[in-house]
Amino acid sequence: MENQRGKGLSFARRIYWPRIIGLGIGGISVFAALYPLALPGWTWALLLFHGLLWPHLAYQLSTRSAFPYQAERRNLLYDSMLGGFWAATLQFNPLPAVTILSMMAMNNVAAGGLRLFIRGSLAQGIGILASWLLFGAHFNTQISALQIYACLPMLTLYPLAVGMVCYRLAIKLSEHKRALSALSRTDSLTGLLNHGSWKDLLHIKFHKCQQRQMEACIALIDIDHFKAINDTYGHIIGDAVLRHLSNELRRNLRHDDLAGRYGGDEFCVILPRMNPQQALDVMERLRRVFSQYRHPQVPELKASLSIGLATFDPVYQEPSSWLDAADQALYQAKNTGRNRIASNDGPLRVSRTQMA
Ligand code: GH3
Ligand code: MG
Repeated sequence: MENQRGKGLSFARRIYWPRIIGLGIGGISVFAALYPLALPGWTWALLLFHGLLWPHLAYQLSTRSAFPYQAERRNLLYDSMLGGFWAATLQFNPLPAVTILSMMAMNNVAAGGLRLFIRGSLAQGIGILASWLLFGAHFNTQISALQIYACLPMLTLYPLAVGMVCYRLAIKLSEHKRALSALSRTDSLTGLLNHGSWKDLLHIKFHKCQQRQMEACIALIDIDHFKAINDTYGHIIGDAVLRHLSNELRRNLRHDDLAGRYGGDEFCVILPRMNPQQALDVMERLRRVFSQYRHPQVPELKASLSIGLATFDPVYQEPSSWLDAADQALYQAKNTGRNRIASNDGPLRVSRTQMA
């Protein structure tokens, strides 16, 4: 409900300025066409009200309404009805009448598509009928130079204002789309890539390595005895440990290394253009700094990492073979005592380390 109201309010705000401009300068073309006709005083009062006061009243009506979107669509129909009324009252003098009717049709299509266009056309019909009932049906094909000039501001400035509103809306939509797509690729707890998007990138890097004989390594990183950390200190502390690891990954990797959360307490990294020794050095640094982590509320908490490293090998047919190699290396690191790095580089190597 709040969301609906918010959408309605921004709809009303989007229309406010184009309505002020459109009705203000549209009033000039209507005035020029009505001027030679002998019309009662209230017609001029109505024209002044519609051209100058109505945009502000319409804005107040919609923004104060419990349903601003519906109120604003109703306002657009009042606009159309009065547009029809003025077109018939100025006796369908061709240029001002076409200008008013087509600009209002453009408005309705931009704001509500075909549906609002049809409803707006019906409202214009009601306005025309009202004018014919009051003043009779007349058609005047005579148009003066002054009346032509009076239509020019409306014909030039109003499409500019509507175009600007549509452009701003398109920019906002594309920003929202970008933000949504970034959210769908991100792990909400750590802000790293999520499982799916990391795997998509693994496919891309795998094919690059195949085509360009590029060196690269991947690493699977798992927190040792993380379940025990959760069980002993609670999930909030467990989450803090996960976030700390993601921060250390950001701090210790290059900006084009790709770090993700594989799931649970397991993280994954692609290290493009790195040979096995360089990758081992980077992961060893990460293992070391992570083992020094101390949580301010539970300084006795100690955490360590087991890491499986796999260098790209051209014999791999699929990215999954590369991932399997890293998985096997991680399994090796876990099974040989944890808090260490194992690598598939040649015969499986294990970097023996001491608990920090
Ligand atoms: P190992 O040394 O063999 O890796 O043992 P482990 O306890 O780390 O591994 P295990 O797979 O048994 O436990 C992982 C735990 O991670 C289990 C699960 O409850 C916890 N976990 C998964 N996701 C989250 C999370 O988002 N937050 C927290 N706090 N815990 C999580
Ligand atoms: Mg674990």
